[in-house]
This record gives sequence, structure tokens and C-alpha cells, in this order.
Amino acid sequence: MQLSRRGFLTAGAAFGAVWMMGGLTGCAAPTPRASSVAPGVARVDLGAVRVTMLSDGFGKRPLDAGFVRNAPLAEVQAALREAGLPTGTLTIPYTIPCVEVGGKRVLFDVGNGEFGQATAGKLLENLAAAGIDPKSIDAIVFSHFHGDHINGLRNKAGALVFPNAKLYVPEPEWAWWMDDARMAAAPEAMKGAFAATRRVFGQLSGAVQRFAPGAEVLPGIRSLAAFGHTPGHTAFLVEGGTRKFLFWGDTTNIAALFVRHPDWAVSFDMDAEKARLVRRQLSDTAIREGWLVAGYHLPGSAVGTLAPRGTGYEFTPLGG
Ligand SMILES: [Zn+2]
Repeated sequence: MQLSRRGFLTAGAAFGAVWMMGGLTGCAAPTPRASSVAPGVARVDLGAVRVTMLSDGFGKRPLDAGFVRNAPLAEVQAALREAGLPTGTLTIPYTIPCVEVGGKRVLFDVGNGEFGQATAGKLLENLAAAGIDPKSIDAIVFSHFHGDHINGLRNKAGALVFPNAKLYVPEPEWAWWMDDARMAAAPEAMKGAFAATRRVFGQLSGAVQRFAPGAEVLPGIRSLAAFGHTPGHTAFLVEGGTRKFLFWGDTTNIAALFVRHPDWAVSFDMDAEKARLVRRQLSDTAIREGWLVAGYHLPGSAVGTLAPRGTGYEFTPLGG
């Protein structure tokens, strides 16, 4: 994660023009397109890496004063208005990347399944539209354990939806949520979230691969500690394609609020200050390194590019 630009520049000075050409060519690679396969499916061809962005639908919630913890409601409404969004009701999209890398087909998170609002739980439908059989998923890599990211692993009958997938979870996320003493001491409002982790993972503990954030999870997929949103929240960098692809999970919620205003804290951030620092650090690194950025709650194809904007950033989704 601590890629040192200064280190690269020193090396560049030593190697002179040859390095500069290599570096600039890398940065200037044309921005790829996302081709629409179906209304909830977009595909990005990165050469040796292929990304399919699959919508799991969306959730709606009224905007209340607590949604952004540290900004006055009037400022939040103004930011929504500026982005052309309604100010009374928030629409929060869910989008799951399916990445083919190193001969494996990997999902990042699994959506709401049968446990969200009626407008959510569309992953299976969109996998079908993409021509991807759930049985062909080799691995599922989880960013964190909030319900909208894990509930789709099992249906209401308890069956595993992706029967052949190996499961990879961040060790600190597992340790935090699977701690029975912590669940017993948790406030009533959080007990449901603890119960969901047990419904999803309870009988699987032996089969789940726990990795230390920072480690390579699978060939071509490096994990990056991004703690704050939850205690073990983790981002992933997929390497080997024409552009590096960052999936940053819930580093931001709605882009119009938290990409443009990275110092604002969404109510779901469990450690708001850590989450804020991660948001800035990952955004700055992605811009500097020219990474594509995908986020679970980003708009459009949910994969795109970042640029500086005022005191924050602007996310531009890839289109066709
Ligand atoms: Zn989420």
C-alpha cells in the first residue's frame, strides 16, 4: 500500500529517459470502456484481466440528519442538489465485481440475496444476463461483513448459492464479528448484524480462508488494509491487466456525498476518523497511480476514474 512515488522518481532520475518513457506510457494508457451487456451488467476488458460489474439492485432510505454524521443536513442536501439527485430519499446502489484473473473467476462480495429490499438481490439475475453460471465461480473474496455484502452467500433455505467457490475473508473482520463475547455485549441495534455473520458463515468456519490484509489473496489479487468502515474492512488491487483495478468496497458510500466530500462520515463508518484517512489515502494513491476504481456503492457501472475536485475528488464511471 505504501507505494513511494518519491522512490519511483529517484529511480526515474537514475534511469533517465528510458524510465520516464516507460512510466509515462503506463500512465497514459487509454481509459478503457465499459460495454453494457444488459441493463445491470457492464464489462471491462483489461487484456489478461476481465472485469464484469454486476448490479445487485439498490436500496432506498430517507435522508435524515444522522446519515452524514458530521455535516449539517442543509449542506448534505445542497451537495445532493448539486449532483442532480433528490434530497428527500437516497438511492444506494449495490454493484459486485466479477474478475477473471490468473485462470480464476472471482466475485468480490455477494450482495443482499433474499434478505434486502425488493429492489435489491438482483445478482443472480444479472449473472444469468452476463452468461455466468454461479457454479463457475471459483472464489469469493469479502471486503467486510455488513449484511448487504454477505447475505447473498446463502438463500433463505440455507443453501450455498455458489457451491464451488472458496471463500476468503479478512482475518481482523472475522475476529471482530465472530467474537461471541462481543456479540453478547453489543447494543441491541447491532445484534442483527452479528446474527447475520453467523447465519452466513457459522457452519463454514473450517472452510473459510482467512487472510491478513496486505497479503496476496489469490494470484493477481493483492489485499490492502482499509480499516475504519468496519474493523477489518479491506480493499483489493487486481494486477496483470492493461490497467490496475482497485475494488475499494465501502471506502465511500454515495459518490456525490463522500467522494466529493471525503471528510464527511457516513453513519455506517464504525471508526469515522480511520475511514476518513483511508478514503483520502486510497483516493490519492489511485489518482497518482492511474488505477481504475470500483466501489460497491458507486454510481453507473461503479468502475471508473478519480480526479481531484475542490477539497475532494470526482468519480467518473466508465461508459461505453
Ligand atoms: Zn455496503
